[in-house]
Amino acid sequence: MTPLLSTGGLAEVAAALPRALRAQGHDVRVAMPCYRQITTPHRGEHYCLCEADYGDRVVHGALRLATVPDTDMPLYLVEHEGYFGREAPYGTGAYEYNDNAERFCFFCLALFHAIPQTGWKPDIVHCNDWHTALIPAHLKTRYQGDSYWGDVASIFTIHNLAYQGRYDASSYGCTGLAPEFFHPDALEYEGDLNLMKGALVFADKLNTVSPRYAREIQTIEYGAGLHGILSARHGDLHGILNGVDYDVWNPATDSHIATNYDASDISGKRICKQALQKLFGLPAASVPLFGVVSRLHWQKGMDLLASALDDIMRRDLQLVVLGTGDPGIETQLRAAMARFPDKLGLYLGFDAPRAHTVQAGSDFLLMPSRYEPCGLGQLYAMAYGTVPLVRRTGGLADTVCGYSTLRQNGDEATGLSFVPLTNQALTRCMQDALTLYEKRDLLQQLRMNGMNQRYSWERSSREYETLYALAINRG
Ligand code: ADP
Repeated sequence: MTPLLSTGGLAEVAAALPRALRAQGHDVRVAMPCYRQITTPHRGEHYCLCEADYGDRVVHGALRLATVPDTDMPLYLVEHEGYFGREAPYGTGAYEYNDNAERFCFFCLALFHAIPQTGWKPDIVHCNDWHTALIPAHLKTRYQGDSYWGDVASIFTIHNLAYQGRYDASSYGCTGLAPEFFHPDALEYEGDLNLMKGALVFADKLNTVSPRYAREIQTIEYGAGLHGILSARHGDLHGILNGVDYDVWNPATDSHIATNYDASDISGKRICKQALQKLFGLPAASVPLFGVVSRLHWQKGMDLLASALDDIMRRDLQLVVLGTGDPGIETQLRAAMARFPDKLGLYLGFDAPRAHTVQAGSDFLLMPSRYEPCGLGQLYAMAYGTVPLVRRTGGLADTVCGYSTLRQNGDEATGLSFVPLTNQALTRCMQDALTLYEKRDLLQQLRMNGMNQRYSWERSSREYETLYALAINRG
């Protein structure tokens, strides 16, 4: 949860959605592991002891009561030094901790014991990604007849289907579920334990973070092996786009950027571009500047970008990359920077203020994703008058209207898009961007179209409200 700890888009959802629901009058409380990265003022105080009951053994932890930053909304932190007092939340480098099944099953089971002790009872538990997947499974099995939990509904949100919490069958003991649920109709997948599958089977309602990704994941191509269960539950599977926190992502008020600007006068963008060039050690040339703010990962098409760099860098442009991730891609980018020091700027790391600088200073934002559940970068780009250049998939397809010379759709286009997953398609689309850059009026129109888009959390949270009501009424 931003600003406590962030590894990507989910952190922003976890911060924004509860606030938006709260603003609509709901009593929202958030639970997460008490990661070491959460600093002292945010850790609140010890509230109660709690335990995870696995049937054959019990593991002890504690619940801390804190508040969501800058609100009085309760934040429950599940404390267990051995599990969560580590260097990173999920693992280091490209490696996950090998006991992640145990860590996150503990988190879920501990909540079943801890939350009733707070004297508060939810109508619905909104679970996000595989780490929380055991909760819907327990609600429908072990806790079905429970006096506290028996009538609590659940929804499960898929932020990224590729991460399923799939482990060797020997990890099944961590779930605390009866042996009969290690079955292909429940948590078993090809002989392994698959935690996300448990949520897909047992949650009252399912959703993902864009309508198009909700459809895509029902196909073999995008279903990551779970398209069967997802299509079987298509009536319960919804797509709700993420929103933008415009208090944070607003070029008119952003304190991280060189100068503020808005749609009525975007001349400040030129100053932001110069500041970005300076920050990334590039000359102050007036050539098109492409930005990347992304995990450097196969999912994001960053391997494609890295392998197309020689071709791309021959052109009259600059590229800045802010990202971290796959060591192989990082190496390729470093090598390319050595070859093209005046054209390629690189920062390998996660740095939120820098992300604002890139969004404000770039002419185009590159997102050549293989798949994209929602994507936030393109939404921020549009807010900053930066034209997103995206692969037409998932949430990118739902939110970016690509300009087409054939259709001359300058009045509605907000970006550029391509479909084939090839270097050629990517570089062709970048060439279209270079052409667009020369057509100043059209470029200006696309920028304005983007800046006039509004992806508010208010709208998204209303859709969640409807979905919660369906889940609670088992509709
Ligand atoms: P995902 O959650 O799959 O990584 P999203 O597009 O949903 O992708 O969200 C990524 C978020 O993380 C965006 O807000 C983006 O600005 C931010 N981000 C990604 N990489 C970095 C980085 N290296 N430094 C700062 N912010 C980053």
